Amino acid sequence: MAITNHVELPHQIYHATHIENIESFKENIADSTCWLPEKDFGNGFYTTNDIKQAYKRAKLLSRYHGGQSVGCVLDLRCNPEPCPFNYNHHVYLGVNRKWAEYILAHRAYPNEDPCEILGYSCHSDIISGPMADNSIKDFIGKDVYRYLNNDNNVVDEFYEKIIRGNDGKFRNTFDLGYQITFSNEELANTMLTIKGIWYMKKGGGWVYEEVL
Ligand SMILES: [Zn+2]
Repeated sequence: MAITNHVELPHQIYHATHIENIESFKENIADSTCWLPEKDFGNGFYTTNDIKQAYKRAKLLSRYHGGQSVGCVLDLRCNPEPCPFNYNHHVYLGVNRKWAEYILAHRAYPNEDPCEILGYSCHSDIISGPMADNSIKDFIGKDVYRYLNNDNNVVDEFYEKIIRGNDGKFRNTFDLGYQITFSNEELANTMLTIKGIWYMKKGGGWVYEEVL
């Protein structure tokens, strides 16, 4: 059985950061030396097609820095054509058990890619799918430990938890937010340009600066 999927990337995507990183992004949008391990879809440059999610994340990042840093959102343009080389795109259109296991496995193996163990031929150049609920930080350590120790129930239980907020209510893909992750630095730098940057204002709101 042959299946052909056509996946088109959105033209506008966003990346949340803070003001200290802006100059380095202007020089090199996707610098793999800055990518942090233990993320949902592995090492990569994380973007979203939902500006509200990006604003939320930028506010959080500013809070992590004691509220001293200014949260920013890169307003990116994605131009997938012409792309000089072939690439793989792994897409989760919504939440499911496989998506949950993908996240858990990449959290469990931050330094050695688990895709082959999961049955994929390789880690894809782009991975798109829903974000896990923020409450993940409350149980990820314990569930990673259970996963590494072959606990048969952990994936199902992990799935049930990452699709719910702290109130236990189901959150659909649109509530969770959607992320598009570039794990191939060269591909990201070929496709993406910065159109402008949103800066958090002290009293609330955002101010936009065009990047020439
Ligand atoms: Zn992988």
